[in-house]
Parts: sequence; structure tokens; C-alpha cells
Amino acid sequence: MAGSPDFDLYRPAEEHDMLRDSVRALAEAKIAPFAAAVDEEARFPQEALDALTAADLHAVHVPEEYGGAGADALAMVIVIEEVARVCASSSLIPAVNKLGSLPVILSGSEDLKKKYMSRLAKGEGMFSYCLSEPDAGSDAAGMKTRAVRDGDFWVLNGVKRWITNAGVSEYYTVMAVTDPTKRSKGISAFVVEKSDEGVSFGAPEKKLGIKGSPTREVYLDNVRIPADRMIGEEGTGFATAMKTLDHTRITIAAQAIGIAQGALDYAKGYVQERKQFGKPIGDFQGIQFMLADMAMKLEAARQLTYSAAAKSERLDGDLTFFGAAAKCFASDVAMEVTTDAVQLLGGYGYTRDYPVERMMRDAKITQIYEGTNQVQRIVMARNLP
Ligand SMILES: Cc1cc2nc3c(=O)[nH]c(=O)nc-3n(C[C@H](O)[C@H](O)[C@H](O)COP(=O)(O)OP(=O)(O)OC[C@H]3O[C@@H](n4cnc5c(N)ncnc54)[C@H](O)[C@@H]3O)c2cc1C
Repeated sequence: MAGSPDFDLYRPAEEHDMLRDSVRALAEAKIAPFAAAVDEEARFPQEALDALTAADLHAVHVPEEYGGAGADALAMVIVIEEVARVCASSSLIPAVNKLGSLPVILSGSEDLKKKYMSRLAKGEGMFSYCLSEPDAGSDAAGMKTRAVRDGDFWVLNGVKRWITNAGVSEYYTVMAVTDPTKRSKGISAFVVEKSDEGVSFGAPEKKLGIKGSPTREVYLDNVRIPADRMIGEEGTGFATAMKTLDHTRITIAAQAIGIAQGALDYAKGYVQERKQFGKPIGDFQGIQFMLADMAMKLEAARQLTYSAAAKSERLDGDLTFFGAAAKCFASDVAMEVTTDAVQLLGGYGYTRDYPVERMMRDAKITQIYEGTNQVQRIVMARNLP
């Protein structure tokens, strides 16, 4: 899985195909059997975390020098795609481990990388990403969480909202204001640990989908951390947070295409079994055309996502546009494809006895987080190729 900046990402290499086969087998054997219960009970998919960690798939992006698999951006996409195909909540384990830790990889000191990336790679703790706040969502630079210097320490106070895997993760990348006069240039990033005094969590949000992925507030109450936990220079936290999203929006696109593929696969099988008017409904051209459209849109989303992954790996100048475009397009496709999958199952699709309604509910979040699709359009418009 060693990354090569030269690979032709429009056509995955043999090693990517092998990775897909092995993740698919693991996902079907060890994650899929629990997906419905995880959703129904809104509980963390511990089975998925255990299986992914045992197979070293929980954080494949961590570079080899810190004990990770050093997987390239396309390998990361494939892992998330295949896990999301059976359980979107579980796919947030590798996805958010990358989101939370990429600020350290991109901008952190060598000491921070050594300390935290090796722990993440070993499976000693997951990483979460704390940007959003109750009054700062799309306008993330309007955050209020403060970090004030006190000798060799920083003291953090504030509330972060909607934090994925909060409470389960050991490590948190927290963006906080260090100079209120400078707006985005007065924001810095820090690593906060769950065990730091003054860190606590809100009640899990009651959500429409991805119910197995805990989303909670993170409270920072006079959290005093050593100054060397700052990620990069003072005032660079917001830029690091945005640079991170350029790369990780591609993982949300991967999640979207995985969910959509799961729904399409299920619907494809169903229409061959279900008979009406004396024959399988899949024999009707009206049904065949729906499936053709679903597959066409999904493949277009996949190609855009793989292309964006290549740009992420090569650090191309147009990555910001492509990351936003892939996330926006793939998530819209996921919503369309999963809604059509429910339609293809008729009344049965509308019940929890079949997985497609869960996939439709899970798909919705991909249009909202890591920037809503309106925000993606703002990003694209500002970075037109
Ligand atoms: C399940 C879940 C998990 C999440 N995980 C994380 C996480 O791990 N870490 C983290 O930091 N955040 C996380 N988020 C937060 C997420 O990124 C925000 O919810 C998102 O960015 C939108 O912010 P908001 O909810 O405050 O909506 P708002 O910003 O209030 O937006 C409301 C509506 O207004 C629209 N809008 C806003 N501004 C404009 C504009 N300028 N032009 C046009 N339309 C606009 C939006 O598109 C949206 O439709 C998560 C959210 C959810 C629901």
C-alpha cells in the first residue's frame, strides 16, 4: 500500500484492487452483520473498530515513519468506500481518524507527529476534529473558543459542537482563538487529550442517520495544556483546518459513493427476485432505466473522487476545487441513488426490515458535514479551475 505520487488514479492499480477485495471481505464478514443493530440501537460500532484495528485499517493514512501503513489517498478512499458500503457509521472510524490527525501531519512539529501518530497507528486512541461551535458552523472563523497563554502552557475555554466520535476518541485537534483581533489569522490549533483535566462531553445527539457514530459537544473548561501541544505556529490553525478539509472532503465523497454502492447493489438483487405482473420487476424497462441512471451517476461520482484523490496525493494546485467538487457531487449522487433504491423496493424499501432506508438516512449527512454543499459551491466558485 506504499504511496506513489505517479499512480494513475483514474484506473486504480492492482494493489488498490487487492486492497478493495480484502476490505470488502472484512466489511461483509465483520461489520455488515452488526450494521442494522448499530443503527437501531444508536450504539458505537465497537465490532467495526476492533476488526479495522486488528487488520490495521483504522488509520491507513498514517505515514510509515510513524508506524502507519502509509497508504496513499486512493487507498484511503477505497477503505472508506468499502466500509461505508455496508455501514456508514463504521466508515467514520477511518475517515475521522484522518480528519482529526491530518492537521498534525500537515503542520505539527516532529515531536507531536512522533507522539500522536504512532499512538493512532497502534490503535491506542482515535482522533477527532473540533472546528464547529454552536454559533460557528459555515462561518467557522467566527468561533469563540479561547486559548490564552500562561507561561509554558495554554489554557483553553469554550464549547465545540457536533464532534464526531467525541467521547470515544482519545485525541482531539481543537481550533481556538489566540488573538481575537485577527479573526481567521488569530486562530491556532492544539492537540487536546480526553484525559486532560477540564475536558468533558455533552449527551449524544439524536440524529436522522449515522446513528452509530457518536456526535457530541466537547466542553473545554480551563483545560491547561503544555505549549508544545500547539500544532504549527500561533495564528496558523485556521489555515491548517482548511487545508485539512481540502484532503478530507475526498473521504466524505468516498463515504457517499460507498453508501450509494451499497444501496445500488441491494436494489439490483431485489428487482431480480421481486415479481409483479407475473415476472421479475427487473424485466420492466422503467426499472432498468432507473438502475442504469443510478449506476451512471455513481460511476461519475467515483471517477471525480478518484481524480480528486490523485490531486490530494500529488498536492496539485487545483485540489481545493476538486476536493469540494468531489464531496458536493458524490453526496448529491448518494442522496439520489439511495432515494431511488428505496423507490425500487416499493413499500418494503420504506421499512427497517431492509437496509436501503438506513442508507438513505445515512446519505443525507454527506451533504452537510465538512461544509454544507452550499459552502462547497462557495469554495468551488472561489477556486474555479
Ligand atoms: C452528524 C454531524 C457530524 C459532524 N461532525 C463534525 C466534526 O467532527 N467536527 C466539526 O468540527 N464539525 C462537525 N460537524 C459540523 C458540520 O460541519 C456543520 O454542521 C456544518 O458545517 C454546517 O454548520 P451549521 O450546522 O452551523 O449550519 P449553518 O452554518 O447554520 O447553515 C445553515 C444553512 O445555511 C446555509 N448557509 C450558511 N451560510 C451560507 C452562505 N454563505 N451561502 C449560502 N448558504 C449558506 C447552509 O448551507 C445550511 O443550509 C458535524 C455535523 C453533524 C450534523
